[in-house]
Order: sequence, then C-alpha cells, then structure tokens
Amino acid sequence: MKKNVLFRTNFAVCAVIIIGFLVTSFISYRSNQGIFRKDVERVSELTSEGIYHQIDSIFTKPINISLTMANDSLLRDFLDGEIQHLEDPEFTGTMRDYLGTYRDKYSYDSVFLASVQTKRYYYFDGLDRILEEGEPENVWFYDFLASDEDYGIQIDNDQVGGAGNEVTVFINCRIAGSDGETIGVVGVGFRVDSMQELLKSYESDFGVRAFLVDGNGNVEISGDSTKYEGESDLFAASPFSSLRASILGNREEVLKQWYSSQKGNGYAVSRYIVNLNWFLIIDHDTTALDQKLTIQLLREVLIVAVTILLVLVTITTVIRRYNRKLIELVTAAEEEHQTVFRQATEQFYENIYEIDITHNRAASEATAHYFEELGAPSNVAYDKALRIIAEKQIKEEHREGYLETFSPEHVLKTYENGKGNLRYDFMITSDGETYYWMRISAHIFYWEEDNSVRMMVYRQNIDEEKRRELYMMGQMQKDPLTGLYNKVAAQEHVRRLLEHRPEGTFAFFILDIDHFKAVNDHLGHAAGDAVLAEFARTLREEFRKEDIVGRIGGDEFVAFMPVPNRRLTEERAERLVTALRHMNAEEAGGWKVTASIGVALIQGEKTEFQTMYKRADHALYEAKKRGRNRYVIVSDESYSGGGA
Ligand code: GH3
Ligand code: MG
Repeated sequence: MKKNVLFRTNFAVCAVIIIGFLVTSFISYRSNQGIFRKDVERVSELTSEGIYHQIDSIFTKPINISLTMANDSLLRDFLDGEIQHLEDPEFTGTMRDYLGTYRDKYSYDSVFLASVQTKRYYYFDGLDRILEEGEPENVWFYDFLASDEDYGIQIDNDQVGGAGNEVTVFINCRIAGSDGETIGVVGVGFRVDSMQELLKSYESDFGVRAFLVDGNGNVEISGDSTKYEGESDLFAASPFSSLRASILGNREEVLKQWYSSQKGNGYAVSRYIVNLNWFLIIDHDTTALDQKLTIQLLREVLIVAVTILLVLVTITTVIRRYNRKLIELVTAAEEEHQTVFRQATEQFYENIYEIDITHNRAASEATAHYFEELGAPSNVAYDKALRIIAEKQIKEEHREGYLETFSPEHVLKTYENGKGNLRYDFMITSDGETYYWMRISAHIFYWEEDNSVRMMVYRQNIDEEKRRELYMMGQMQKDPLTGLYNKVAAQEHVRRLLEHRPEGTFAFFILDIDHFKAVNDHLGHAAGDAVLAEFARTLREEFRKEDIVGRIGGDEFVAFMPVPNRRLTEERAERLVTALRHMNAEEAGGWKVTASIGVALIQGEKTEFQTMYKRADHALYEAKKRGRNRYVIVSDESYSGGGA
C-alpha cells in the first residue's frame, strides 16, 4: 500500500470516528443538559413553593387572632365608652387584662389596641402612649387608617433585634363601629427570628439562594444578610440584573426564568408575597454546573482523541507490518515467476535487454553488463554501445540497417507513430569469423515511473530457419532441370544490377540451341533434357560466379555480365560459340549441338530490361538468319558478329 493511501485511509477512519463521537457527545451533552435543567427547574420551583408556604403560615394564625379580636363586641363597646372613662383606671384596666390574656395565651410579644377617637395606644400592660400624628413611629397608624384594608401587616426590619436578624411583625386589624366607621385598630406584634434560618436551610438543602426583597429590589432578608446590616440592591451586581423589571413588575403569578449573562447563568423563580409586600426570589446559579458539563465534554473529547491516536498508531503499525509481509510474499512469488519466465524465454531468446531510449542508456544490469563485455566503458550511452556492437559483431552488409533500425531517433519516431514493435534480421558473429543469423524483436513502451520511452530487446538465433528460408527462396528462383535462374529470377537479377549501376557497360546474351527440336524428335525427350542440362553446365562454366545466367524458355538461355569493352565482349561470344560447339553431350549420343547467340551491348546508357531484351533477341534472330552456330552483337543498332 502506498504511503498516501494509508494516510488517506487513516484520515477517513479518523473522520468517521470523530464525526460519530461528536454526534454522540453532542446528543449526550444535550440530553444531560436537558435533565440537569429540568432538575434545576424542579428544585427551584419546589423551594420557592416551600418557602412561600412556610412564610405564609407564620402570618395566618396571628391574622386570624387579630381578626377575631377586631370583631369582638367587647372591644367595640370599650371604644364606644372610652371617651366617658378617660380617667378611669378600672376601665382601662379591663382592656389591659383583655390584651394581656391574649398575649399570655399566644405568647406574642405585644397585643395592642389603638383608638381612633382618642389616639390612645393600649398595650398588654396598660396605656402606653398617645399616637401623635406626624411622629415617625406613628406613621403606621395613620397610613393604615388611610388605607381601606381590613387588616394590614407592618414589618419592622430596621430595629435592633435580639440576634440582629430578627424581624418584628405587626398585624393591624380594623375595628368597625356600628355605622361602619373605623373606631380603632387592634393587633398583635411578634418577632420572627426564623425567616433567615428558613431561607438558610433551603439554601443548604437544595443548593439555591433565596432572597426576600422589597418593591425596589432591596434585600430585606437573604440567607446571609438582613436589611438591618445595610441596604443592598439585589439586582445591582447580580447575574440576573436583567430580570429586575420583569420580577418587580409582576405581582400576579409565579415567574420562572432562565437567564444568562457575563456574570453567570441560572434559573430564577420569583413571586410576590402579599402579606409582606415583598418578593421571594429563588436563584439557582448554574454557572458552575455548566462549567462542569463543559469540562466533562472536554474530558471526553480528550479521552477519545487519545483513543483515536492509539487506534491509528495500532492500525498503521499493523497494516505496515502486514504490508511488508505481503510485499515480501509478492516479491518472492514475482521473483519465482520471473525465474521460470526467464528460463522459459531463454529457450527462445539468446538474450533479453532493456534500453531506456529517452535517457539513452541501458535500463537493466544485464544490458549494462553486455555493453561492458563488448569493451564499452561502464555507463556508456546507448547509441555509442549500439555502434560498438555493430562494428564488432554485425556483418558489414547488415550494419547500416541495424544502426538505422535501432537508433534512438528511429525508435522514438516509431513509438510516436503509434507503433510498438521493431524487427531486424542480420548476421552476427561471436568469434569474429563465423556469422550466424540473428533476429532482434524489440517492444517499445512507455515507463511511467520515470516518464521514459523504453525498449525491450529480444535477441533470437534464427540461423537454421533463416538458412532454410534462403535456400527455399533460392530454389524457387531456379529452373529445376538446369539449376540456372528461371525466367522471372533472371529477369529480376538483371533488372537489379541495371538499376544499381546504371552507368556500367554490360553484355546481355540470349542463346538458343540450333534445331533442338530435332534432338527431341530423334533421340527422345529425355535426351533433349540431357542436352539442355549439359548446355546449361557449359554455360555456367563459361561465365563467372557473379554473372547472371538463366534459362528463360525451352532451349533459350540468357546471360548478363559487366564487360569492359566491345572487343572483350566479342571474344567472350566467340569463346562461347566454340565451347558450346564442343560440348560433350553423351546422353545425346554424340549429337552435335550448336547454338546461336544474340548479344546486346550496353555502354553507359540507361536501359530498360525490355529494350535490352528486344535488342538481343533481334541479334539472335539475325544470327539464326545468318546460318546459326554464331553470334551477333548489337550495340546502338549496329550489328557485328562471328562464329561458324
Ligand atoms: P531453331 O534452330 O530455329 O531454334 O530450331 P529449333 O528446332 O530449335 O526450334 P525451337 O527453338 O523453336 O524449338 C524448341 C524446341 O524445344 C521445342 C520443344 O519441343 C523443345 N523443348 C522445349 N522445352 C523442352 C524441354 O524441357 N525438354 C525437351 N527435351 N525439349 C524441350
Ligand atoms: Mg532452338
């Protein structure tokens, strides 16, 4: 596996794990947050409810007692008769006893009666004072009279109490005269030292903070302070300061609100307590819990990140190890296959070489080694090595073709033309003396690894088959009876020679046996054949090896050869006539054979075969006409001849 594939796989695995984890974490985070929020809401609301009812219960009983007293006819009668008994200690004594009885029975700090008519303030131990209007401590009386409530509660939270956190509560109840007019106010006063304890106990039990604040938002009582210790605005610096308006502006229902600010987050439950004219606010600060949840989330992320890292390291290590093993196995199998393949191909090919054409060099060890064996310097360029091989091993006539075929330029051109194969047959030597036929088949291909055009060269010893092929080719060109070239071959060879040396001087002979028909007629066809064979043998003897000699018809022969001049041509024709005349044809029973010869002499002129043939044939005709057993030479339409 390639490195980047491994990297991509790891990356994909990572991405899947991370996405899966993030989704799970987010769902779990949201679900935890939901549960936790519900919990916070329930606790806060129950706390608010609990405190509210406890506070409410503190006032219920004294209000009922005060209302009972206010409706007591004894009090009404007392007030009605008060003015007549202003100075009667016995009369006021009854009131003292009355109030004292109530105080003793219910253990209130004070039980009092205030008269509207006389402004007298009766206390459980006697007449206390006159409630003069305008004095601050009597404001409550006049305020209550001004209101039209049946009863009112007055909270005194400013005075020094026993434990510093006490609140004195006064219940004031209106006493109506027979005509419905207010004639007095009766009530009880008692200290409440338990309110702060109440708040504290809820705070510690439920992890909330509880406040009792007045209509302006100032703290009357909280778990850790009372108004007595100094005025403080609850909303001034709290994280829920934005809720001030909604809380203090709502006296009807219980308000439950989540808040979030820079100072913190939380849940606030607020309600108005009519009896106290205060607001009860329960604040559940969730900042720390939110942080905890976030830390929890981060911790999970960290754990998963470490886990992913470990998984990746493990996967990578295992895959790498596995890959190495796999590569080793594949390489071993490949090597084995290569060996088998090499052994198999070696039976067909002498050598296989690989050339990097683009970079003009050997592309395999074996190739470089082969170049060196031929005496080339190591790392020799391919084209140079090619020339060395041509010079040292290739037969001269094949060198040019070899170099042309396998030159880098030709190979590249072949490849560019869309051909992938090259082939060249040539003769080669290993010892510098004996040559044998070799075939090079080359396969050209593109090698992506280094963007090069390469060539695989297969060298195959084809000596045996080539020789057989050449032999067969030769046989096909020959006349079976005489072993000379047949008509087509003779014609072709003559043509080639003419083309090759257009400026040369040549002599073209046509020979025809005189009265050959008579041989057949008298001695039979076999004898005729023997004459033909003997004629051919003599002819062959009279010409050199490199001259072209052929049989082109029944008893018609041709010969073609370069000649230096006319004189020597005549000499040769003369000699030929003589030689044929003395030919020994034993099978012909000593039959005397003669031949007529027509010769066309070509002297440095460009001549077509047909023209030359016609001329020679004409000369032959002339020879026959002149009595046979002779030759006639024609050159430029001029005839000369001899023989007989
Ligand atoms: P001329 O002097 O005018 O050439 O007379 P000729 O009798 O030789 O006449 P011509 O050259 O026209 O005749 C050739 C004869 O050769 C005709 C044919 O029967 C004979 N012939 C052709 N081919 C063969 C062959 O393969 N074997 C034998 N035995 N005879 C052949
Ligand atoms: Mg003849």
